[in-house]
Amino acid sequence: MEILDGRKLSKTLKEEIKEEVSAIVAQGHRPPHLSAVLVGNNPASEAYMGNKVKSCDMVGFDSKLIRRVEDISQDELLEIVSQLNNDDRVDGFIVQLPLPEHIDDEAVLLAIDPAKDVDGFHPYNFGCMAQGMDCFLPATPLGIITMLERYKVETSGKNVVVIGRSNIVGTPMSILLSRKSPSGNATVTLAHSRTKNLKEICLRADIIISALGKPFFITHDMVKEGVVVIDVGINRIDDLSRKSGTRLVGDVDFEKVAPKSSFITPVPGGVGPMTVASLMMNTLKAFKRKFDYTYNK
Ligand code: NAD
Repeated sequence: MEILDGRKLSKTLKEEIKEEVSAIVAQGHRPPHLSAVLVGNNPASEAYMGNKVKSCDMVGFDSKLIRRVEDISQDELLEIVSQLNNDDRVDGFIVQLPLPEHIDDEAVLLAIDPAKDVDGFHPYNFGCMAQGMDCFLPATPLGIITMLERYKVETSGKNVVVIGRSNIVGTPMSILLSRKSPSGNATVTLAHSRTKNLKEICLRADIIISALGKPFFITHDMVKEGVVVIDVGINRIDDLSRKSGTRLVGDVDFEKVAPKSSFITPVPGGVGPMTVASLMMNTLKAFKRKFDYTYNK
């Protein structure tokens, strides 16, 4: 069994990005810039945002965190999006989800310029992804694909089960893995809350990608020997042995599933850090696209 170490790999990826940024700056360009909009003070969003800002510093990007109170109006938020779309110094930006109930997520998403949509959530990018065209891939699926590639996990011809059909993880993941591409060519089953006989489906899987958000949902009797397990779930559970009284776990019963696996991601330290590294990769891509930048120029 080998651990797919997202923390270590994301560090390597960020070092690679940092080198590229140094080369860009050495040639007289400004560094790439990522802006992020955070509405309200959801503790999980605060933590994700902290990691994203820290990563920007680490790779040498300029970044700006735009904080707004929970009761910001939709029009005010759309105005911020419009300003970011039109600001030439901003290469890419994200609006951290979830947004407060009174704001229509879809209206905000549609307002983002697809050329700056480094989260890869805009339907334009989603459509390009589905057709195998150049685009910003959503950060978590991009992180998983990158992890599979770097650890040389073969996907071609494999049976993959993706559990969860969200627009940001499960559905794009299923599309990417079934696409005709070096990290695709798999036979993919997309399972969801209405799926019947999930255990039997999982037992046939060479690779399981779990993105449903239920702690210890994937148990050892649901997986075959040698399975590859990618655990996307982030769930906070009670743990009185911890000072905080809680801890983070994935969707997989790691202790019992790991011994049957050939590769497995831990939580924390698996997919999460890869998601942040992917956002950095997308921002660098947005910058390069904008300036049509190549090293040899
Ligand atoms: P979501 O929360 O929007 O939806 C959950 C999905 O799970 C739905 O499609 C639903 O059909 C499916 N589901 C629910 N119960 C099921 C069951 N019993 N059997 C099969 N499928 C079932 O999905 P999301 O936003 O992709 O989030 C999923 C999890 O991944 C959450 O824990 C979230 O925190 C985590 N997440 C992690 C990262 C990361 O970077 N590690 C990124 C995004 C989301």
